[in-house]
Amino acid sequence: MKKEKRIYIDKIKKGPVFLQGWVHELRDLAKVKFILLRDVKGIVQCVVKNKKLFKKFSDLTLETVISIKGQSKTASVKSPEVTNHKIEIEVKNIELINKAEQLPILVVEKDKTIKTDLSKRLDWRSLDLRKKKINAIFLIQSEIIRAFREFFSKQEFIEIQTPCIIASASEGGTELFPVQYFEKKAFLAQSPQLYKQLIAISLEKVFCTVPVWRAEKHNTTRHLNESRQMDIEVAFADDFDVMKYLEDCVQFIISNIIKNCKRELAILDVKLKLPKSKYFSYDESIKILKKNKIKIDYGEDLAANEKRFCEMFPNTLIFIHSFPNNMKPFYIWPKDGKISAGFDVLYGGIEISSGGQRIHIPEILIQRLKENKLNPKNFKHYIDAFRYGAPYHSGWSIGLERFTMALLGLDNIREGCMFPRDRDRLTP
Ligand code: ATP
Ligand code: MG
Repeated sequence: MKKEKRIYIDKIKKGPVFLQGWVHELRDLAKVKFILLRDVKGIVQCVVKNKKLFKKFSDLTLETVISIKGQSKTASVKSPEVTNHKIEIEVKNIELINKAEQLPILVVEKDKTIKTDLSKRLDWRSLDLRKKKINAIFLIQSEIIRAFREFFSKQEFIEIQTPCIIASASEGGTELFPVQYFEKKAFLAQSPQLYKQLIAISLEKVFCTVPVWRAEKHNTTRHLNESRQMDIEVAFADDFDVMKYLEDCVQFIISNIIKNCKRELAILDVKLKLPKSKYFSYDESIKILKKNKIKIDYGEDLAANEKRFCEMFPNTLIFIHSFPNNMKPFYIWPKDGKISAGFDVLYGGIEISSGGQRIHIPEILIQRLKENKLNPKNFKHYIDAFRYGAPYHSGWSIGLERFTMALLGLDNIREGCMFPRDRDRLTP
């Protein structure tokens, strides 16, 4: 078959077409055969009436990759899965590109729910990604990152790259994966934190999307050992300035998803609305939780109550600011002896982001390192950078998989990661 211009199934118009994709379903009637052809954008019904093609049809198996040359015609297609019920393709020629063997997991979901258990699906992730619902999750995730980049690029932020191999911890020493770096011991970065600060004190407004690694041994539905972050860091900005950036950025991302991912949202049965925002200090948050009969004391982590807190304020970005100093990392600016300029953001039942104003004064940094039982000698390059003209600065980090999970109501963070790395899984 001569190579022609291929179009996506959702772009089919009347007339001659050249399509390439996967055999989604086959129906073999005596005088006529049907192929449901699928590509990443949709499914179309193809009708084989020409007897000369019946032999080729009989060779087809589910998920076999084929090219189809045909004529798009007006029709009234019954199959519920098709993208456009008003068209079908009369097949003129079929070319087999790669025949699929017996499938280890099914791609077609007959029921509304996906039955194969998650672990088996992840073993066959490449096949799993072809499922309508799974494919929809990652098309939306792609839109999240695209919109994040657009939002900050448009406001003259600079996209930066930070190192993934680092010499010392940025968030405390226990959760790092060690790597042998020639004759030295190094670690996989658990955050771009310290580096994005070093860049922001020179380039002012920066953003990045980076992978991070945390060697936490826990196995929860909201932690991965490798995840991706969407980060910003802004010079001459305080904690409230960057919370506002987060509010506007999340609104922008969600409005783009509502506009550009209608099909995917319908497939996932997710009705998105722009979230409201609420700002509470940590102190106020504890009082609100207590008032709602939740047992919690000042100084306790909110993690166990994030879900309850979010249920009290549906579809809301909850900003919890002014955390106690000792609950935030060493690099967070202490507003006074007790309160810091650090914050968390809750949405959809979980923490999606942490951020704050950072310390830009070397002496305060050294003091806070010591208070956190970290050795300032290990942070010499970092501390020294603030000796030569460092503006005050603030930033935050949104976990990409966490945000995907919160936005789409996924019950496990692994559903929002193409190839999760967790306590047990390193392949595929
Ligand atoms: P948590 O308390 O929820 O475990 P954290 O406070 O340790 O998270 P941060 O250091 O604040 O995490 O990281 C910034 C963001 O990155 C978090 O708000 C979250 O969205 C995401 N994140 C953090 N740890 C993980 C992880 N292990 N897996 C997936 N996403 C993560
Ligand atoms: Mg956090």
